[in-house]
Amino acid sequence: MPMDIMSEGSVSLYLHIPFCQSKCSYCDFNSYAGLESLIAPYVSALIAEMGLWQQPSQHMSVATVFVGGGTPSLLPLSEVERIVTALRQRFRLAADAEVSCEANPGTIDRPYLQGLRSLGVNRLSLGVQSFHDDELATLGRIHTAAEAREAYHTARQAGFDNVNLDLIYGLPCQTMTAWQHTVREAIALQPDHLSLYALSLDEGTPLADAVAQGRLPPPDADLAADMYLWAEDALAAAGYQHYEISNWTLPGRQCRHNLAYWLNEPYLGLGAGAHSCLGGFRFANVKDPRRYIPLVEESAKSDGRLAEGLAPFLAGLGHIASAEQMTPARAMAETVVLGLRLVEGLPLEGFRRRFGQELMSVYGPQGEELEGLGLLERVDGCLRLTPRGRLLGNEAFLRFLPD
Ligand code: SF4
Repeated sequence: MPMDIMSEGSVSLYLHIPFCQSKCSYCDFNSYAGLESLIAPYVSALIAEMGLWQQPSQHMSVATVFVGGGTPSLLPLSEVERIVTALRQRFRLAADAEVSCEANPGTIDRPYLQGLRSLGVNRLSLGVQSFHDDELATLGRIHTAAEAREAYHTARQAGFDNVNLDLIYGLPCQTMTAWQHTVREAIALQPDHLSLYALSLDEGTPLADAVAQGRLPPPDADLAADMYLWAEDALAAAGYQHYEISNWTLPGRQCRHNLAYWLNEPYLGLGAGAHSCLGGFRFANVKDPRRYIPLVEESAKSDGRLAEGLAPFLAGLGHIASAEQMTPARAMAETVVLGLRLVEGLPLEGFRRRFGQELMSVYGPQGEELEGLGLLERVDGCLRLTPRGRLLGNEAFLRFLPD
């Protein structure tokens, strides 16, 4: 069974850092404010979890690493160094590995970023979100627009030649003019990559409560769609290639780590709440870092070995909250849904090689219905969403998922 994992070739590795200075008003991610005292024991647990996947004879090959959160840039450099050292000892990190780290303006300075760079981090993703201070205040961000610009310039000075900016649109009260200003400011900085996310009002967040109680107007979905379409044109005119529903890149700067997700390739997630897709299983860790730390310590004492098979191995790990063996139907559906997120679409020949069946022989009725509605098209041997389909992606995706 371990050969199933080893024969998958390289995996992508995700490391979750669940700490934040304060909680943003829209945030439903697995992140926590006020737990900084757990940083050192958490990093020790993360390293112990890496050790569980260490093979005595053959280390797992890793092509990309993504340190996300949370706010990874809250980790002191000494803790980042512990993580990177352990990573290199326990896995075989490719010489050309993409190593990304998320960082928030307001938590970084030049020595810190130079430190990250010298530890081998070669891609930085900055959570900018907006270039308007009033919008940043509504979002509960800890930084101003000026600090976001400064963080970007500091990253360049520290030697990062691969920088992503995250932006959010569809905010309550956000005008088209304000959004256009944010996108133009971002383009003026010339980042290598841009991720544009529609605000999602998640139940239980302060922002959703403010809307529910009438203190803020509900976001306007039609306006959000217009913002997306305007940004698509503006970014194309500025030389950015649209390659995934929410992602744009300068030539050759696609995020290799996220591409692995969209191509439904194997990945291993470590840390609180991290998800994995490996060896025919999907599995996830317990979410709360206060439970994750002691449970990983227990897992590290278990005598289960990966060599005995992935299912019994996972069953013996107390920090695994859920594990599900993938059925072929599920694997095919996920490959389609994830692949359709890519602007180029899903290569039909690749699907046939992977599953031994033609995509349209499995999903003929759904495919033809969506083509008829103008949401899907077949171009250059790929099945892809049309520009209209990209706005209604969830409608299309639902048709492919098993009941
Ligand atoms: S910085 Fe990111 S993860 Fe942290 S609270 Fe804000 S949105 Fe959530």
